[in-house]
Amino acid sequence: MLYTYPNYYNKFSCVADKCEDTCCAGWQILIDDESMKKYKKEHKNDRRIDWENEVFCHQAGKRCAFLNDKNLCDMYTQWGKESLCVTCDRYPRHIEEFENIREYTLSLSCPEVARLVLNFKDKVTFIEKEDDEEEVDEYFDEMMFSLLENARVILYSILQNREWSIQNRTKLILSFAKECQKCIEEFNVFGINDAIIKYESKLKINFSETNNNYYKKTLSKFKRLYELEVLNDLWAEMTDEAAELIYAKGEEKCNELHSKFKHWLDENVPDHNIMWEQILLYFISTYFCGAVYDGNVIGKVETAVTSLVCIYEMLLSRWIKNDCSLTFDDIVFVTYMYSRELEHSDINLDTMEDV
Ligand code: SF4
Repeated sequence: MLYTYPNYYNKFSCVADKCEDTCCAGWQILIDDESMKKYKKEHKNDRRIDWENEVFCHQAGKRCAFLNDKNLCDMYTQWGKESLCVTCDRYPRHIEEFENIREYTLSLSCPEVARLVLNFKDKVTFIEKEDDEEEVDEYFDEMMFSLLENARVILYSILQNREWSIQNRTKLILSFAKECQKCIEEFNVFGINDAIIKYESKLKINFSETNNNYYKKTLSKFKRLYELEVLNDLWAEMTDEAAELIYAKGEEKCNELHSKFKHWLDENVPDHNIMWEQILLYFISTYFCGAVYDGNVIGKVETAVTSLVCIYEMLLSRWIKNDCSLTFDDIVFVTYMYSRELEHSDINLDTMEDV
């Protein structure tokens, strides 16, 4: 079995009761079968477990019923670490599983992970470890997976080309993904190899700057936030506020706000393009190869780009609200809140991918 980890993986450590938020509120945690069996045997009368739906009950504020006033887990303190279900035990570690491969990431929905990823200036690489464990999945499409892995390397190379603007990098990953998607839909998966060769040569090109008509480009992506199920009322309020502040006064005003914001970022957050790169890379590295199961390459890349646009728009809104200023903590907050809204709901992930 091969295990992969981003090179910032071991830098993470949970700050527990010092955390500005908690991982145990706002989403319904599904209990895995093994843990359910254990709870039925050892704690069958506990009312904090919804036995019928196999989830933890919620108290006010959609907080897990085991979460106490100090934002610590009573299950952990009363029953011990080994009693935690798989989701709680792993979080914020996330694993994507493929035949003989486990890809580990850290979820951006944890504020400490968001802080780590957004502060990470080096180019992200992936560390590999291997052991003798073997797994056979007769339905796994090895050939398709290997093509997707190669395609993902090209996506990484485009995303990490810091000579190019983020707009040009996103444009290029989208057009590459469209070509790969066309190959899949025409039952010509080997065509992906041709697309890889074509885009390898594009890596040497010098791009001219794109024009800055933000309104049309961003509005269609921002609107997708309204298609998602609401997990957090505060996020829904922030979305309405952003729509009002950025789009209500029409195209000209919207473009003007984007231009001013961009200039402000260039002057005050010199590394902002590296942050956007890390966000895109996070979504591509976590979800892209999942296309081996559904063939939806373009949906995975669109999700990454739309996620960056939505985070950016929410930051612009905060910047307007803060009288043209933004702190690193604001960027962390918006990023992890967005990730919670999207990634803590399979329905939302599917909706976002359904281009
Ligand atoms: S959100 Fe992250 S830092 Fe906060 S308690 Fe959970 S794992 Fe720890």
